[in-house]
Amino acid sequence: MDITRIGVVGAGQMGNGIAHVLAVAGYEVLLNDINQDALDKAVALIDRNLERQVSREKISADEKAAAMARIGTTMALTDLGKTDLVIEAATEREEVKQKIFDALLPHLEPHTILTSNTSSISITRLASRTDRPEKFMGFHFMNPVPVMQLVELIRGIATDDETYDACLGVVEKLGKTSASAEDFPAFIVNRILVPMINEAVYTLYEGVGNVNSIDQSMKLGANHPMGPLELADFIGLDTCLAIMNVLHDGLADTKYRPCPLLTKYVEAGWLGRKTKRGFYDYRGDTPVPTR
Ligand code: NAD
Repeated sequence: MDITRIGVVGAGQMGNGIAHVLAVAGYEVLLNDINQDALDKAVALIDRNLERQVSREKISADEKAAAMARIGTTMALTDLGKTDLVIEAATEREEVKQKIFDALLPHLEPHTILTSNTSSISITRLASRTDRPEKFMGFHFMNPVPVMQLVELIRGIATDDETYDACLGVVEKLGKTSASAEDFPAFIVNRILVPMINEAVYTLYEGVGNVNSIDQSMKLGANHPMGPLELADFIGLDTCLAIMNVLHDGLADTKYRPCPLLTKYVEAGWLGRKTKRGFYDYRGDTPVPTR
């Protein structure tokens, strides 16, 4: 199947990165959000990030201009009806995603593939409520999208081979690498990564180590590029907690219980870098551990 036009729903941290890499790879991209400010900020950010790639000689100035020219924005979701593939990257709430698909479906071409960048919501359940479960799958980019090499491709129970192969073709054209995952809670990367982060929070909660010693241990003792608490702040502690809850509910195993200290940070609104406080305080020049 020939994919040339791609719609991206949601212009937040993931949506802008996805639009960026698709445009550089030569796809026509239509980026949608309910918030004009989010669209304006996304385009400005893509421009800055592409400029950085030009200054590092990863792309030429002409390639940057061509990529920017391939990105359109719209607040009308129905404009995405004429695309070949839709990547939904809106807020991680099932009712939000559900409403988007409900509104989009009557306007889609019969051949259009629908995908979600969800980190944890069941692809099979999202697909079952559409008119095309066989043309629905998970297209899970990692953050930051222009930097991270992996894309998880998740088949719902009904996803057909043609759909899978078309998405695989897009990943290859992006120069990225895919990992194929079955549709079980949190797929592969987050199934392994987030419980490790949760265990690091338990290690802190139980006083086995402090923020510095835990992060140092994993950086120098396990060769991780970032410590688990530093990484949690980067991902967002609310996101980490939401993923633990999906694992706990979906797999019904107490080994996935979220650490009470993680819940407490989220209740405090200390969500990590995005709120300037999490396991580290980012309000000064250098991050300071909060424990
Ligand atoms: P974000 O909060 O940065 O952006 C979400 C965007 O969706 C916002 O701009 C919001 O205005 C928009 N939005 C909300 N409702 C909408 C609607 N009805 N129509 C159109 N746009 C709407 O979130 P994010 O971090 O970019 O996450 C987006 C998706 O990507 C989520 O499903 C998340 O699980 C997934 N994801 C996130 C990460 C990560 O590290 N942040 C990594 C992989 C996947």
